[in-house]
Parts: sequence; structure tokens; C-alpha cells
Amino acid sequence: MENIIILGTGCAGLTAAIYAARANLNPLILEGKQPGGQLTTTSEVENFPGFPTGIDGFMLMDNLRKQAIKFGARIQNAFVNEVNFSKEKKILITGNGELETKSVVIATGAAPRLLNIPGEKEMYGGKGVTTCATCDGAFYKDMDVVVVGGGDSACEEALFLTRFCSSVTLVHRRDQLRASNIMAQRVLEHEKIETVWNAKVKEILPNENGKVDSIKISDTSTGENKLISCKGVFIAIGHVPNTQPFKEILPLDANGYLIPSAGSMVKTDLEGIYVAGDCADHVFRQAITAAGMGCQAAIEAERWLAEQN
Ligand code: NAP
Repeated sequence: MENIIILGTGCAGLTAAIYAARANLNPLILEGKQPGGQLTTTSEVENFPGFPTGIDGFMLMDNLRKQAIKFGARIQNAFVNEVNFSKEKKILITGNGELETKSVVIATGAAPRLLNIPGEKEMYGGKGVTTCATCDGAFYKDMDVVVVGGGDSACEEALFLTRFCSSVTLVHRRDQLRASNIMAQRVLEHEKIETVWNAKVKEILPNENGKVDSIKISDTSTGENKLISCKGVFIAIGHVPNTQPFKEILPLDANGYLIPSAGSMVKTDLEGIYVAGDCADHVFRQAITAAGMGCQAAIEAERWLAEQN
């Protein structure tokens, strides 16, 4: 039986692995469908402490991976479909068979919800379509951008982008924002933000270099189509946490995020089961906060395992 299995190779999972490996727990990390997590889809990361000139997202994750392996962590490609947890033994049922472990760190992340429209996938990550203003906003200095969505995330992204961009157009499918009043008010009153209501984004169109040139929207009541010229499209229509296998086992909030025990960011009500990163955090969702949770989860697991012997 393993001491500890860490689910996910994003910032949270790999940081947990570094700490667990350095504590001689010989951790096994299971890599899911997106090795390296969400950061591998970002170009430059400028806000991870310690990199004054920024670092490529893929390279950052590759460094974390090498660091974890250097201390003895093992990485296996396996997707967990089902789990069976008890205090003494945790069973993970994967496509390749069953694994048994004393403790688990769930760091399965979240995936940004996408529009699934033509042009989106083709220009995602580096060509003008993105899901993270905090990560990519600075690359759109003095440019016109569009934010899609009407919730707190879309408002936060739009407000953040006003620091760099010449104009921000918020496109929402209804005539009212879902965001909290205070966020909505800030957006509606901001001189750089224009709102386009009752509009569905139908397509993202490229320029001759294959980068974003405009979006095609259609009015939801009249069906009339219109083009909005822009260099960046920030999609902020929510995230989907990767928590499906745990939904009958651990408490999840209404949006599917894992809820840690009261008074802890990473412990759960089940002994030996810890959570870290975006699968349990819809508020901060940053690489550094995910790494911090991964560190906490590994230290909590180490202490709990020591108590069991
Ligand atoms: P959200 O509240 O679920 O809002 C998603 C928005 O995207 C909604 O306006 C929704 O439209 C729209 N949308 C969803 N699917 C769409 C589609 N296929 N096409 C077009 N539009 C679509 O998600 P969120 O904004 O990411 O927020 C998630 C949670 O985190 C919320 O509880 C939020 O309060 C919280 N949060 C808080 C803060 C903060 O306090 N600073 C910041 C970010 C997030 P409809 O309105 O028509 O449904």
C-alpha cells in the first residue's frame, strides 16, 4: 500500500509532491487528462514570486515536475474514475486498475468553462483567446479586448483589464449581470467598459496571422449579427471543478467545489484525505495559492501518517 497518492500534476499537486517526497513518504502522483494543469495553457507567468522577468507557464510546471522527481516522487498516468475511502485504506479505481493508499491529496484542479464556438480552440493560449486576465491581461496593453460573461469573474476580469487595455467590451447573454451588486456597479460605472447585452458570441475570427481579429455576436432577441473588433477575448463564464469521482464521498458546494473541514483550508472530514488547489478554491484560483495549499496538504498528511504508526 502507498503512503500517499497525490491526484493531479498542477501547481497544487506537484508542490504537495515536493513536500511529501522530502518528508520521505515516497509519494505517487497520478497525472490526469491535463498534465501540468491549467498553467500549461498560459504563455508567460509574471506573478509567480521568484521570477522577476516572468516564466513560461509550461516551463514553470516542467520545473516543478523535475523538482518533485528529484526528491523521489513517482508520476503515473492514470485517471481516477471512482474512489472508496476508509480511515485505514483508500482505494482509487483508475482506468488501469486499483491503487491502495493510506492518504490522498486531491489536487484535480478545475477547467475553465468554454463557449465551444468556432475559432475558440484554434486561438486559445497565445493567439488572443484566454480565460485568465490576471495571467494574460498585461499582454493586451493599449488594445481593445472583449470579456464574455456576466458573473463576478467576468466583472473582475473586465475591471482588471481596464488597467492595461484601451477599451473593454463586456458581452453578456442576458440584460442583467449575475455578479454581486458592488462588482456590477463598478463595471457599469467604469468609463473604459462598454456592455453589450443580450448577445451570444457565435464565432471568433482570426486576422491574417491567425490571431484574434474580431468576434461575431448575435442579438438573442432579434437574431441580428454584428462584428466587434478586438485583439483579445477573455472568456469568463465560470469554471468546472474536476471533482466528479468524489461527489458521493465528500461535501461539494453547489458549483461542485470540494469543501474543506471548518477551520482548515486543506483537511476534509475524512481522515487522511486532503484537498488542494482549484478543485477546492473558487475564490483565489492562482498558481501561488494552489502551491500554498499543496504544501499545507502534504504537511497535514505527513503529520497524520506519523500519528498512525
Ligand atoms: P458564475 O457566477 O457562474 O457566472 C458565469 C457567467 O457566465 C454568468 O453570467 C452566465 O450567464 C455566463 N455563462 C455561463 N455559461 C455561458 C455560456 N455558455 N455562454 C455565455 N455566457 C455563459 O461564474 P463566476 O463568475 O466564475 O463565479 C463563480 C463563483 O465564484 C461565484 O459564486 C462568484 O460569486 C465567485 N467569485 C467571486 C469573486 C469575488 O468575490 N471577487 C470573483 C470571482 C468569482 P447567466 O448569468 O445568464 O447565467
